[in-house]
Amino acid sequence: MPDQHYIGNRWVASASRQAIPVIDPSDGQQYDEIARGDASDIQFAVDTARSAFEGQWSLMSAAERGRLMYRLSLALAERVEEFAQLEARDCGKPLRQARADAAAVARYFEFYAGACDKLHGDTIPYQAGYTVMTLREPLGVTGHIIPWNYPLQIFGRSVGGALAAGNTCVVKPAEDACMSILALAELAAEVGFPAGVINIVTGYGHEAGAALVSHPGIDHVSFTGSAAIGTLVAQAAAVNHVPVTLELGGKSPQIVFADADLDLLLPAVTSAIVQNAGQTCSAGSRLLIEKPVYEKVLDLLASVFERLQVGPAQMDLDCGPLIRRTQQQRVWDFLSDAHTDGISVMAQGTVVPEAPESGFYQAPTLLRDVPHTHRLAQEEVFGPVLAAMPFDDEMQAIRLANSTAFGLVAGVWTENGGRQMRMARAVRAGQVFINNYGAGGGVELPFGGVKSSGHGREKGFEALYGFTTLKTIAIRHG
Ligand code: NAD
Repeated sequence: MPDQHYIGNRWVASASRQAIPVIDPSDGQQYDEIARGDASDIQFAVDTARSAFEGQWSLMSAAERGRLMYRLSLALAERVEEFAQLEARDCGKPLRQARADAAAVARYFEFYAGACDKLHGDTIPYQAGYTVMTLREPLGVTGHIIPWNYPLQIFGRSVGGALAAGNTCVVKPAEDACMSILALAELAAEVGFPAGVINIVTGYGHEAGAALVSHPGIDHVSFTGSAAIGTLVAQAAAVNHVPVTLELGGKSPQIVFADADLDLLLPAVTSAIVQNAGQTCSAGSRLLIEKPVYEKVLDLLASVFERLQVGPAQMDLDCGPLIRRTQQQRVWDFLSDAHTDGISVMAQGTVVPEAPESGFYQAPTLLRDVPHTHRLAQEEVFGPVLAAMPFDDEMQAIRLANSTAFGLVAGVWTENGGRQMRMARAVRAGQVFINNYGAGGGVELPFGGVKSSGHGREKGFEALYGFTTLKTIAIRHG
C-alpha cells in the first residue's frame, strides 16, 4: 500500500511528505507506513469532494447510485478474505473476527444500496390553495472520523449511510489502523465510483482530524471515538454551525436476574467483553448479578475465563493483542488500581507461549465485588476486563445500570416478560438487548448513545435522516 492519501480516485502524496509508522500489534514491529496528512491535504480532499458533489454525483439518479453501491458490496463480498487479512494484522484481531467485520462492510453497502431510492419526503395537508411538500436533500460534503477498533465496520455504517443519502465524503481514519479503508477506497474506484466521492486522508487526529472537523467546507461531521475527543470535535464543528453525530464510548451493563438462562448468557457475556480484546464501544464491561445467583454465575464464568486463550491475530484464538503499547499500559493501570484497592481477580485467561513478548497482550480478566463508584465500574477500560458486582432487586439494578456517565448499550437477562419490558424502558441506553447482546450486530438496527455516549444514530434507515436536510416547499396555487 503506498504511503499516500487516496483523493479523487488516485494516490496523492502528503503535502508534508512525512509518514507515520504502521505497527503490527501482534509483535509490536513496524511493517509499513502511512502518509501524515495535514490541513493542506484536507483542503485538497474537501475541494475534490465538493467538485464531485456539485458535478457527477448529484446528476446521478438515486437508483444508479444504489447500483454502484451494490457493485461495491459484491466486490467486497468476493474479497472478504483479503480485507480480513488486512484488518487482522492492522488491528490485531483474531482472523474470524476480522472476517466478520469484512463481511459486515459488504452487508452495509448492500443495505444502503437498497435504501438510496427509498428516501423520500411527504406532502402535508395545509390551507386550501396550497400544496406543501418536503424534500430530503443531501447535506453536501460529509466528514468522517473513524477509530482504530473497527475501521471497516465503522466506515461501512458511516460512509455507507452518507453516500446513500447523496453526499460525498472525506474520511480521516485512525492513525493506528487504516490499511483496510485505503484498500476499500481503491476498490470503490475500481467498481466505478466517480472521482471525489470517497476521499481518504490519513494522519494524526490533532493534525488531519482537527483540520477536517473545523473545515468550513464540511457540511456534517460523523465522529466515532472517545468522549474526550468528541467534545473537541463538537466544539470545532460548532464554529461553522455544522451538525455532528457523536458515537462515543460506553460502560455498558449486563444485568443478570436469578431466573436468567445461564446457558444462553455465559457465551454472550464472555464474548461481549473479549471480542476485539474488549476494545469495543459496546463492550459489556459491567456485570450486575442478582444476589441469589451471584456466586453461581461467577463460578461458571470463571471456568470460561480460565480457558480463554490470547495470542497473535493469525493464530485466531479467543482474543488478540491490544492495539498499542499505551493501550496496554492503560489497562495495566486499571488493574493495578484494582489491586491497590483490594478488588479480587476471580479468573484470568492465558497468553499463549507463542505470543511474542513484544506484542501488546492482556489476558481477559474477571474482577469480583467491584464497588460501583470505583473507576473500574465507571470508566471505559477499553480492554478485556469485566467488573462484576451484586444487586438486591430490580430497583437497585436500574440504579446501578444508570449510575455511569455513559448510555450506549445494556443487556438484560431474565425470563420474566414484565421485567423485560420494565428494564428495557428504565435503563438509559441507546439500545437494550433482552436475552442476547448485540442482536448479531445487524446493519439494519439503528445504533447510538445517550448521555456521554453521544447523540445521533448510525446504522439502519435511521442514519439516513442524519445525513440529509429536510426542505419544505409550499406552493400557493389558488
Ligand atoms: P480517539 O477519540 O482517540 O480517536 C478517534 C479518532 O479521532 C481517530 O481517528 C483520531 O485520529 C481522531 N482524533 C483525535 N483527535 C482529534 C481531533 N482533535 N480532532 C479530530 N479528530 C481527532 O478514540 P480511539 O481511542 O481511537 O477509539 C476508542 C474510542 O472510540 C472509545 O472510547 C470507544 O468507545 C469509541 N468508539 C465508539 C463507537 C460507537 O459507535 N459509539 C465505536 C467505536 C469506538
